[in-house]
Amino acid sequence: MIIAIDGTTASGKGTLARKVAERYGLKRLDTGAIYRGVALALLDAGADPSDVAAAAAAAHALDLEAIDEDRIRSGPVGTAASIVSAIPAVRDALLDAQRRFAAAPQGTVLDGRDIGTVVCPRADVKLFVTADLRVRAERRWKELHARGESVTLAQVEAEIAARDRRDSERLIAPLRPAPDAHLLDTTSLSIEAAAAVACHIIDAVIDP
Ligand code: C5P
Repeated sequence: MIIAIDGTTASGKGTLARKVAERYGLKRLDTGAIYRGVALALLDAGADPSDVAAAAAAAHALDLEAIDEDRIRSGPVGTAASIVSAIPAVRDALLDAQRRFAAAPQGTVLDGRDIGTVVCPRADVKLFVTADLRVRAERRWKELHARGESVTLAQVEAEIAARDRRDSERLIAPLRPAPDAHLLDTTSLSIEAAAAVACHIIDAVIDP
């Protein structure tokens, strides 16, 4: 079984994916972490995230097991990730590894932007998660604030809006719901309530 969870930045899709993986005993891949890993490698090397050759080389060299889970969560790495992820050679370099992961026999859940449309178009269940911009900004601001980053809510909101635009308007694998995706708006839902809705949708598909 493959479950694809796509959605906008800070929509809650990562937490949902973790809960779904626990509930159904699936392996989980956070594909955003992969693009963040490429971005961090570039920033550490002093390279420009929009440098196509450098970004492609960093994507080919990325070791998925060695991604620094803490450092990739910073605001600047998130912004750089959305720049590198618009480069076709970067996406090409990362596609096979994502598909190999998805095919693991115990079943998988992958979350990102293009799982239901490009990486696993034949996923058994597809969810597309979103929430109002202001609510997403507040969630992300809390996370960044807890990391000690000094940013204002307005800055975070502007950054998320810019990321939504970049992710949706890029030519390759743009952020959009697959035609057969179930839409899940988490604006007024707690994470527990959102997970309950997601499990209800999944149960209806796998055990009708
Ligand atoms: O989900 P997260 O915010 O960690 O993703 C970081 C960036 O990586 C996103 O803004 C998006 O540009 C990119 N991404 C992508 N395709 C995916 C996952 C993430 O383009 N499947």
